[in-house]
Amino acid sequence: MCGIIAYTGERPAGPILLEGLRHLEYRGYDSSGIALVDSAQQLYVRRATGKLANLIKRVEGTLPTASCGVGHTRWATHGEPANRNAHPHISNKSVSVVHNGIIENYLELKDSQIKQGYKFTSDTDTEVIAHAIDF
Ligand code: GLU
Repeated sequence: MCGIIAYTGERPAGPILLEGLRHLEYRGYDSSGIALVDSAQQLYVRRATGKLANLIKRVEGTLPTASCGVGHTRWATHGEPANRNAHPHISNKSVSVVHNGIIENYLELKDSQIKQGYKFTSDTDTEVIAHAIDF
């Protein structure tokens, strides 16, 4: 089962999210990721397959100062375990989403979003949520 953690507040969000993900590891997962909004309102997103240690290695020395963010440990239902399928999923560099569960009608939504001009970068059902919010 996937795990989700979110933080907003006055402390640095990055380390809090990583610590939260560590507490969720026991639930099982195939990949993990975090998204932070930095002080310039830019999205910082990092994802990694395998153990949380891989994500921690990936973010080392690059975590921005941020007071808000989300983290996710994934159990794939749609799309193989791979970096491009790990959460968070983003749209238009401005929306970032993590999700637990299955979107039954995602193919219908995906078709109409492709017609609207959205480019998909994953095989997941989740990515349609990011594009729907952006739209
Ligand atoms: N259905 C989503 C995916 O395959 C979410 C899976 C989960 O709950 O971790 O990415």
